Amino acid sequence: MTISRDDVLGWIKNCAAALADNRDYLIELDSTIGDGDHGANMNRGFQAVLGKLPDIADKDIGTIFKAVGFTLISTVGGASGPLYGVLFMQMGAVSDGKIELTLADWAEAVEAGLNAVVLRGKANHGDKTMVDALIPSVEVLKAASANNMSLPDALRECAHAAERGVQDTIPLIARKGRASYLGERSIGHQDPGATSSSLLLQAAAYTWINGS
Ligand code: ADP
Ligand code: MG
Repeated sequence: MTISRDDVLGWIKNCAAALADNRDYLIELDSTIGDGDHGANMNRGFQAVLGKLPDIADKDIGTIFKAVGFTLISTVGGASGPLYGVLFMQMGAVSDGKIELTLADWAEAVEAGLNAVVLRGKANHGDKTMVDALIPSVEVLKAASANNMSLPDALRECAHAAERGVQDTIPLIARKGRASYLGERSIGHQDPGATSSSLLLQAAAYTWINGS
């Protein structure tokens, strides 16, 4: 079982839908430990991505991911815009020319995206950022690929790992981004960026397990 270009397009549409549905929730999380714009930022970015999809729908998956990355960089803003931008651009760079992805390809793409986020944002695991959702997700995907797990099982486990990563941000002190200005007062609150990253991976699971 592989992920087709149509599956990728379906995922991106469902990401936009999930971010629209969770706009107010992400605003609420970011109001508590940041400036309250994360939900609006992500929703604006993915609505712009939706507008670009008709132009890129017949391109290879690498080109589609890179176009998503460019669009996010130019529309999301804040700390998370450039980070989600490089995540998708790097996912695109390693998916260049592909019109379908195996589980191994998907694991490689998400890992490459995560590495670009870390290179750019310099966050370590446990700094209470989006990488706290992405790192355990990538670990699960790589292990699943190495163990020849089925794609649906791998996606399900990955979504669970992302959600655990989100919950694990709650007791942490923020060490990057605006939330770090709060120091110990950031303890007890869920990170908005980890939450949006998890939403993207939940969308991958339900889109690709149930069909787009
Ligand atoms: P801003 O903080 O500029 O208002 P957003 O509210 O859109 O931007 O995004 C905030 C999220 O960005 C945080 O919850 C965190 O997950 C993520 N973030 C901030 N700085 C970094 C960083 N250096 N590395 C990784 N993620 C980061
Ligand atoms: Mg913010």
